[in-house]
Amino acid sequence: MAELPNRRAPGRLEAVRAFVNTLDIEAGRDALAGPSELAEHLVAWHLLAPDRSLGASDLRAAIELRESLRMLLGAHNGLQTQGVWTRLKACSSDTCRWAYYDASRNRASRWCHMQVCGNRAKGQTFRARHAGIGPAPLPR
Ligand SMILES: [Zn+2]
Repeated sequence: MAELPNRRAPGRLEAVRAFVNTLDIEAGRDALAGPSELAEHLVAWHLLAPDRSLGASDLRAAIELRESLRMLLGAHNGLQTQGVWTRLKACSSDTCRWAYYDASRNRASRWCHMQVCGNRAKGQTFRARHAGIGPAPLPR
């Protein structure tokens, strides 16, 4: 499949699109022919340090990931029309990032579990907002 400029994804999402498209099914051409080609691709996308070298197991894992992403995007086509795709999210907590399905009515949930990550985040916000604000010093 020839590269069409208007089919590029915005921002970092383009890295995902380009990675999936390293296999040209129509032409039967795989840009990830070997570990060094994989390394070249990842370095070009700033996903790997230039001094790192990859092996056969890295290539197998990358191809497995690529085909999983392709399957996910295929499933996405059907799920998007049902309006459920946008409910699949990653937790906003930097230390969690757990994938979850947002079943809330307004689709606005940000954490995998309100009782865990939500309360933790709200506690941090509260402490940051009230930092340095203690009881007034006693009058002399
Ligand atoms: Zn979480």
